[in-house]
Amino acid sequence: MNIERYKQRLLNIERELLADIARLEGEACSSGEPEVGDATDAATSSEGTSESLEEEALASRTLTAVRDALHRIEAGTYGKCAACGRPIEAARLEAVPWARYCLEDQKKQDEAGHVPQGGSTL
Ligand SMILES: [Zn+2]
Repeated sequence: MNIERYKQRLLNIERELLADIARLEGEACSSGEPEVGDATDAATSSEGTSESLEEEALASRTLTAVRDALHRIEAGTYGKCAACGRPIEAARLEAVPWARYCLEDQKKQDEAGHVPQGGSTL
């Protein structure tokens, strides 16, 4: 596996996500309503969530995953499933370079978390 190549891809994705988040934050601010309250409140209240806020939440979740993956590259554990320890499928890493789980365990995670849509999993 060419780790350096994945690292470059992840760094590119990180840059793009940061640009996206900055843009979406700008949109959220200019739309009026100042953001008050805790992160815990924001997670539970679904009303009044604008599309750009949801997009931003998705982007920042992906950013966290991308940064995790970069840490795993540093730690030398990149490409191994966090659940079963087997190597993650190459095709899966091509599509989702920040994948933490192999396809099988990702499915289990999705089912356990009741994620409405597959999101970043292909
Ligand atoms: Zn696994």
